[in-house]
Amino acid sequence: SSVYAAPGQRGSIADYRPRYGHYIGGEWVEPVKGQYFENISPVNGKPFTEVARGTSEDIDRAVDAAWKAFESWKKTSTTERANLLNKIADRIEQNLEKIAVAETWDNGKPVRETLAADIPLTVDHFRYFAGVLRAQEGGISQIDENTVAYHFHEPLGVVAQIIPWNFPILMAAWKLAPALAAGNCVVIKPAEQTPASLLFLFEIIGDLIPAGVVNIVNGFGIEAGAPLAQHKRIRKVAFTGETTTGRLIMQYASQNLIPVTLELGGKSPNLFFEDVATRDDGFYDKALEGFTLFALNQGEVCTCPSRALIQRSIYDQFLGDGLQRVSKIIQGNPLDPNTMIGAQASNDQLEKILSYIQIGQEGGAKLLTGGERVDLGGDLSGGFYVAPTVFEGTNDMRIFQEEIFGPVVSVTSFDDFDDAISIANDTLYGLGAGVWSRNIDTAYRAGRAIEAGRVWTNTYHQYPAHAAFGGYKQSGIGRENHAQMLDHYQQTKNLLVSY
Ligand code: NAD
Repeated sequence: SSVYAAPGQRGSIADYRPRYGHYIGGEWVEPVKGQYFENISPVNGKPFTEVARGTSEDIDRAVDAAWKAFESWKKTSTTERANLLNKIADRIEQNLEKIAVAETWDNGKPVRETLAADIPLTVDHFRYFAGVLRAQEGGISQIDENTVAYHFHEPLGVVAQIIPWNFPILMAAWKLAPALAAGNCVVIKPAEQTPASLLFLFEIIGDLIPAGVVNIVNGFGIEAGAPLAQHKRIRKVAFTGETTTGRLIMQYASQNLIPVTLELGGKSPNLFFEDVATRDDGFYDKALEGFTLFALNQGEVCTCPSRALIQRSIYDQFLGDGLQRVSKIIQGNPLDPNTMIGAQASNDQLEKILSYIQIGQEGGAKLLTGGERVDLGGDLSGGFYVAPTVFEGTNDMRIFQEEIFGPVVSVTSFDDFDDAISIANDTLYGLGAGVWSRNIDTAYRAGRAIEAGRVWTNTYHQYPAHAAFGGYKQSGIGRENHAQMLDHYQQTKNLLVSY
């Protein structure tokens, strides 16, 4: 497998346009105020396209287009909508390699991941909700001999979706698939750091979707996101991003008293019980692999296993073997299929991670490996690369409590089961967690005791569409994925009929 040519270079399979407007009413349109901003590739730190800089005027236009489209979209049958979702999935699958390269270029994550995870999961998400929709049933209750209660599913109308930069296409798919299945029209705002890949995707799938059913408005959080979330004529906001932004989104939505689903930050614990190291076999191997997954997607994952909790009796051995593994993570050109860790999504994010590495050291944590920016040289010199970094410390330190969102793990030890659970739960967040033990009783009890929406047991970082995903505590409200997600995009209409 050879290195993919960069978009814009000779031989590239994924070329971006030099400039993108908004996608409104099925057309590419100029921003009302005529302004654009540069989109930079983290791979080399250079701008590669310009994107419309949206304002409230563009949001108004998109909301209008969405309501107009809703008139006929709401009358479509469940079969028609399911078929459309399947067509979208097929089209994405047919263009998978191209879309994967485009996503890598915009976000900096390795093409090995976009080919194997981001884009295939996107495809599966559309197929899953097509299936869920076909299988959804209403309810009829007989109240008395002459009276019947019918329950109908109705779409909400026009919904707002605001997405982050860490999985630009997949996070859009998580929101678009259930919203469209349920019969809603959408106005979606990509993150300003990575707007281009979703626009690239709509160049490929846009013609399949009736005009105005999905509208994309680009731009910054305050300029485009806030007017969208506060808009008087939207019926729901679905948001993925930082906990601090999530608080604002809730305030905005409260003005219109509309529902929100919030997928926010995390500081997920990854627990390694002593029995993982009783034998040097495949299980131990898997657990060590699980430890290294803090570096997956450059650590820019809301469920990043950023706190490793290792039982004291195996601490030295496990950490030693874990560090060995970390040294084998291949960092390099994200367009090289061998690369395992690529570039951070933006220069701001790079700076934020480096500042946390300093905070870790100043706070008394011991830096065991990494801790610096990496210069890949040549064309990639300007890219935003950080070496996988391992700290040792205690759970009260800032690097154990605050989300870094980089390839940084903070390691500490625990004495016994109760100690492990109390450290795991000593956090404001509650999104993900990992538990590793050969003893299914230990694993089960830990899984139930940890306050998090998703606890992986003897695995980590799997995201099937049929498993509910979401946060406890300050990690969010509501769930995504799973059939229950349709409920978040539908009203229940009850007709109580007396014959
Ligand atoms: P962010 O909150 O800064 O931005 C997310 C989106 O919100 C962007 O599109 C941004 O433009 C927009 N935005 C910013 N301010 C806004 C405002 N005042 N009004 C409306 N919109 C606004 O988050 P980010 O840095 O892009 O993303 C990283 C965060 O996302 C991390 O905290 C991560 O944990 C979280 N995340 C969570 C999940 C999950 O499912 N729980 C998944 C991925 C990422």
